[in-house]
Amino acid sequence: MKLPKWIVRRFWRAIVEFKLLEANDRVLVGLSGGKDSSLLLLGLKVLQEHAPFPFDLAAVHIDQGFPEKVDLSPLEDFCAQLKVPLEIVKTQIYHMAFTTEQNPCARCAYFRRGFMHNYAREKQYNKVALAHHLDDAVETFLMSQLFAGQLKTFQPQSYLSRTGVTVIRPLIYFREREIRQAERLLKLTPVSTPCPYAGHSARAEAKELLRKLESSNPRIFDNLVAAMRAGAQQDLWPPPLTKGEFRDRMKNFWQRQELSAERENTQS
Ligand code: SF4
Repeated sequence: MKLPKWIVRRFWRAIVEFKLLEANDRVLVGLSGGKDSSLLLLGLKVLQEHAPFPFDLAAVHIDQGFPEKVDLSPLEDFCAQLKVPLEIVKTQIYHMAFTTEQNPCARCAYFRRGFMHNYAREKQYNKVALAHHLDDAVETFLMSQLFAGQLKTFQPQSYLSRTGVTVIRPLIYFREREIRQAERLLKLTPVSTPCPYAGHSARAEAKELLRKLESSNPRIFDNLVAAMRAGAQQDLWPPPLTKGEFRDRMKNFWQRQELSAERENTQS
């Protein structure tokens, strides 16, 4: 099985830089059936065939239990073609997360991650590969600032002490438009989601905002990527004072003012 060189290189860059794979890893790919996770599985399969060390590969699809029936046969065919075992885990996430009028994305993603990580732990996979790419990382960075007042994004690799599973993101150096290009090139057939919130999430808004910003200045995306790195040049304000610290600071400030006024009076 072959992939264009630029795609293989992009995978290896992330794997080597962030130490995503090691000999004898048991890797479980979260396969939603979208373009991103399909490319992730295909890429890891190709790497597995040519890597200088052995690792196991399997895929899991978390069925969220939407009332509409989703045809998963393209996923099954894709995995059979790649000779990668696929497990479909049926869940009630739809009933668990879509309970209020509020946007369910955070709860839905939380439950989906939980099912996936627990499945990995039960079946003794030490790594879970997720299909987040560079646009996802930058959108998360932007959303953290806009909606949570924090400067953070997800890591290319993170160890989850509760389950003992390490999450890896081998697509982290791909732009979303490159994944679309790969989708056309490799003739991947994504499974569409029946979720009514797809394309209407806070992430979709951040994506649209970024698209507009980038169309007015193509440097903006790369600047955000640079700002996301530890060690990026910073000139941030100090943290706010607590009430007690402010009281003490105020007292000292007045005392100093009074002292200098007294000194001036004595000298004159
Ligand atoms: S868009 Fe739908 S499937 Fe995706 S996280 Fe939101 S609720 Fe879940």
